[in-house]
Amino acid sequence: MNNDLWKFNTHSIRTGSLQSEFGENSEAIFLTSSYVFDSSAQAAARFAGSEPGNIYSRFTNPTVTMFQDRLAALEGSEACVATASGMSAILTTIMGLCSSGDHIVASRSIFGTTLQLFSNILTRWGLEVTFVSITNLNEWEDATQKNTKLFFVETPSNPLTEVTDITALSKIAHQKDIKLVVDNCFCSPALQKPLSLGADIIIHSATKYLDGQGRCLGGAVLADKKTIEPMYQFLRTAGPAMSAFNAWVFLKGLETLSIRMEAHSRNAHHLALWLESQPQVERVYYPGLASHPQHKLALAQQKSGGGIVSFEVKGDQKEAWDLIDSTRLISITANLGDVKSTITHPATTTHSRVSPEDRQKTGIKNNLVRIAVGLEDIEDLKADLSSLSD
Ligand SMILES: *Cc1c(COP(=O)(O)O)cnc(C)c1O
Repeated sequence: MNNDLWKFNTHSIRTGSLQSEFGENSEAIFLTSSYVFDSSAQAAARFAGSEPGNIYSRFTNPTVTMFQDRLAALEGSEACVATASGMSAILTTIMGLCSSGDHIVASRSIFGTTLQLFSNILTRWGLEVTFVSITNLNEWEDATQKNTKLFFVETPSNPLTEVTDITALSKIAHQKDIKLVVDNCFCSPALQKPLSLGADIIIHSATKYLDGQGRCLGGAVLADKKTIEPMYQFLRTAGPAMSAFNAWVFLKGLETLSIRMEAHSRNAHHLALWLESQPQVERVYYPGLASHPQHKLALAQQKSGGGIVSFEVKGDQKEAWDLIDSTRLISITANLGDVKSTITHPATTTHSRVSPEDRQKTGIKNNLVRIAVGLEDIEDLKADLSSLSD
């Protein structure tokens, strides 16, 4: 089911639904690895691609297709492929679009595992990667080479919530026939629509806000059909497909995406303001704060600040760990995007495998704490962090 005139929430609840002969109102989970053909001729036609239809769930699955169609409508994208995780979405993008000898320019401020994939694994396969500042766009232009295929950015970034001007960066990319990839994990389409700002490809870790309740791993890549096609060929051949069960969980997650994102932003904004006034806090990073270096850009590019707040406590690693260990309500876990608030120490968890020099370059200090603000009552969250008031 799809209607191009629908608005965001209607798409998030209705688009993509395929009703079976039983007339179910909630989408079905099609737990099947393969599909039965009427005849050998039909099997041959499906394999030849002359007749549409499912063959094998590594290629397509109806529940996964529903999720892909719904997310594509929310991002305003022509096509979408779902993957087993956010990391496999990134791998699928690169395997689909790059070859040995190609070059990627990526922001230094990206998810720690993405940094590992780019710098330690893909380089073994002959891919060149240059890391640049997330906000100084001159560095992107200067880093461009003849063999540059992709620009890769995450905005707002993890964990410092720095914001990149997507439109300006896409102009630099397009002058040189380079595609701009945006990891839209922190905002989700409820707060930011990168394709409408000039990006070519969107990456999602569905594990985070698309699920919203910390249950399943999944990912997605969105772009026009022509760009997605080689990624789909990689996916159906190499196999990092999304499971039907996970796709169903994400379909349910999408149904509440915009109200959750509004509530995450509201709680996070409130907490960020409160943190700024606490004696044991040195500095707060949140795009919704007037003190954020790209506050104006964030307001123009995003609907609200999102759910992630990072801050430096007075002191060093010990004081950061003491604060984290003093919490009783907020979960000490590196995940984010959950209705349950989570707290982590990036330097020794998500970014622990980044070299100390690179951590310094990206500004991830030992006294930095990241909270992915959930949907608990704000007064309870503040009470849980009350040691900052001393
Ligand atoms: C978590 C995350 C990923 C990786 O996703 P997984 O589902 O854990 O594989 C990629 N990018 C960002 C911004 C993330 O937060």
